[in-house]
Amino acid sequence: MEKIKEKFDLAVIGGGPAGIMAAGRAAELGARVVLIEKNQVFGKKLLITGNGRCNITQAEFNDKKFVEKLGKNGQFLLSALSVFGPEETIKFFENNGLKIKEERGGRIFPVSDKAEDVLNVLLKYLHKNKVKFILGQEVIGFNVKKRIIESVKLKGGEIAAHRFILCTGGKSYPQTGSTGSGYEWAEKMGHKIINPKPALVPVETMENWVLDVQGLNLKNISVALFQNNKKLDYRFGEMLFTHFGLSGPIILDLSKKIGELLAVGEVVLEIDLKPAIDFLTLDKRLQRDFKNNKNFKNYLPELVPRKLSGLIVRFSKISPDKKLNSITKEERKKLISVLKGLKLRRLYLMIVYPVLYI
Ligand SMILES: Cc1cc2nc3c(=O)[nH]c(=O)nc-3n(C[C@H](O)[C@H](O)[C@H](O)COP(=O)(O)OP(=O)(O)OC[C@H]3O[C@@H](n4cnc5c(N)ncnc54)[C@H](O)[C@@H]3O)c2cc1C
Repeated sequence: MEKIKEKFDLAVIGGGPAGIMAAGRAAELGARVVLIEKNQVFGKKLLITGNGRCNITQAEFNDKKFVEKLGKNGQFLLSALSVFGPEETIKFFENNGLKIKEERGGRIFPVSDKAEDVLNVLLKYLHKNKVKFILGQEVIGFNVKKRIIESVKLKGGEIAAHRFILCTGGKSYPQTGSTGSGYEWAEKMGHKIINPKPALVPVETMENWVLDVQGLNLKNISVALFQNNKKLDYRFGEMLFTHFGLSGPIILDLSKKIGELLAVGEVVLEIDLKPAIDFLTLDKRLQRDFKNNKNFKNYLPELVPRKLSGLIVRFSKISPDKKLNSITKEERKKLISVLKGLKLRRLYLMIVYPVLYI
């Protein structure tokens, strides 16, 4: 690395979205800024967000309502949101040329569905404001004199600055560069660190039938959590079966609660494949459909995604070759209870892949 003698007004450590915004904004206000990133590229984690589409923000413009969704720890964000909340975020990206769209649940995405386009806006912001950047250099410590940080130590040198901002990210997905080293430094400098807990984590299960349906994405379904036969949480939306268990938006969303419940006992997760219709309405529909003499297995794809057919046969215990018009009332009731309550027990949080630590 070439020796940098200049003393900067500000050195920002970590080139994720937080570091890029902090560096770009300080430079926009006239500071001489350097941004240091240990990867060879900026925003590695940003590129995998929202399944590669990047859910930029939420169309929730009431700050109080926004933080309510983040639980009791959300309050601390209020002062930041009052200065730069979702409205300002949307304006920032639109003013910098990104077309955005709102999807179900108020989620804001780029129209192109590419996280890369979000990152490109941020990179342009750095260039426009002449932020100096250093890529491929890891900050490994600080030189502190009389409780004041004078410079950061890099493997290949030192960078001096009057002020420093630590944006090294959380602990999730360490492959992207954020290993949680910032927590240790902050603690060494006298900050109190609350032990981070995993949140937004895929869920692993020992129920081996999920292997038969891995890759299946279910839309417009609901998932409920039970403990001691009490329904304790619920989400409607989209989920995914994987080779290890469950993932997708509503599972990630429920994972924090699953973690809390698992700490005190067994959790049963129930998938309702037909949440829009109640038991009786579904029963009436099946009675109508079962008037013909099709085989059960040939009818099932009309009712559920094809990949689920085998599972429904297995759990409902209705023979696949049975004619619809000879299915008994008991069998029909059993089928409805499977469709409206596909149960998974033996759950674990898949802590290797949390999206967040909070
Ligand atoms: C799978 C997944 C999906 C997600 N989806 C979304 C989504 O759709 N919407 C959303 O808002 N959020 C999403 N998130 C969360 C989002 O990615 C993070 O909140 C965001 O990246 C945090 O930004 P950051 O700049 O604080 O940290 P990071 O993005 O983690 O960036 C920190 C940077 O610091 C660098 N760094 C670390 N230590 C050093 C060091 N010692 N020296 C130099 N550089 C260092 C790292 O290499 C890294 O580039 C998702 C996260 C994951 C894992």
